[in-house]
Amino acid sequence: MTPPELVVPMFDYRPGHARYRDAIETAMRDVIASGLLILGPRVNSFEGHFAESLRMPGQAVGVGSGTDALAIALRALGVGTGDEVLTVPNTAIPTVSAIRMVGARPVFVDVDPDSCLMDIDQAAERITRRTRVLLPVHLFGNAVPMEPLLELATRHGLHVVEDCAQSTGTRLAGQATGTFGRIGCFSFYPTKTLGAYGDGGLCFTTESRLAETMRQLRMYGCGRTYVAEREGVCSRLDELQAAILDVKLAHLEETLAARREIARQYDAGMPTQIQRIAVTPGTDPAWQLYVIRVTRREALISQLQEDGIGYGIHYPVPIHLMPGYEFLGYRVGDFPVAERLAGEILSLPCFPGLTPEQVQLVCRSVAYFADRELA
Ligand SMILES: *Cc1c(COP(=O)(O)O)cnc(C)c1O
Repeated sequence: MTPPELVVPMFDYRPGHARYRDAIETAMRDVIASGLLILGPRVNSFEGHFAESLRMPGQAVGVGSGTDALAIALRALGVGTGDEVLTVPNTAIPTVSAIRMVGARPVFVDVDPDSCLMDIDQAAERITRRTRVLLPVHLFGNAVPMEPLLELATRHGLHVVEDCAQSTGTRLAGQATGTFGRIGCFSFYPTKTLGAYGDGGLCFTTESRLAETMRQLRMYGCGRTYVAEREGVCSRLDELQAAILDVKLAHLEETLAARREIARQYDAGMPTQIQRIAVTPGTDPAWQLYVIRVTRREALISQLQEDGIGYGIHYPVPIHLMPGYEFLGYRVGDFPVAERLAGEILSLPCFPGLTPEQVQLVCRSVAYFADRELA
């Protein structure tokens, strides 16, 4: 995270906190007074409310992070060594960390140049005997077209696990992301649309057997106290985070509306030379990130820095080209679209509490760059 001490920071949770301060601080005090800090009534309450917010009958299982949510989901489906999981190379590293945590092999699929999301036709070409899971990433708060993806999964007998870390609140044809596949995995990292005050994550499923398995997996595999029914891990959402999240969840629609409004202001204020990311038809995005595409990105960055404006690049290097994943054996040129996008994308500040004046400053800075460099 970039430091928030700029004219326009990339992210700052404090204006959001100020809005709900009393309710959040009361909730925190109540937890501390309650005598229960792990897997108690607040986690239950939040899980119930979160599942309700998705408007799909099912169960939510709170875990320690978004990364763990993905790993626990894969493990619950029996995915492990020798299995292949199809995902995209332009995602956040944790998508791939989670696949590796269960010992499976990430197999990458290039992305659509307009939406930056998984190219489903190319996914079909990468399916092998070992493929077990399609793992679409709803990047930037946009939604992967789930109809063709589910159709592909059904045709090949594959599981679908959705990475919804950036899409809490996103709907596709009115249906929440995370409810299309067998398991939807969410993150409550502080910068996400529903951010905790530390780490947190959640798995959603409509299948109660899977939910039960994931509840055991997060707690050393225990069904009954101190008896492991299976081999598990330690990854729990704690009572303090759950209580905070429960307060913030009650205001999620407001938060989403604030993000939507900022995106609208950017759409209206961006100079015409600036290319935006295409939103999947039928999607109501959560606007986790507002992303633009530019050539001459270094010049734009200089301009933003000069104007005291924060920015992000999500992400600067596709995972198949990172030193830590050299062992997967990929090379430059394997995923040309993801590689080109990595050099052109830039995320602008987009979080509740950002003022219209600040958005205007960003637009002006980008326009100044565009006039000079993209004329
Ligand atoms: C944030 C993020 C994650 C991981 O979430 P954590 O809570 O940080 O573990 C996974 N996938 C994507 C796409 C993310 O943006």
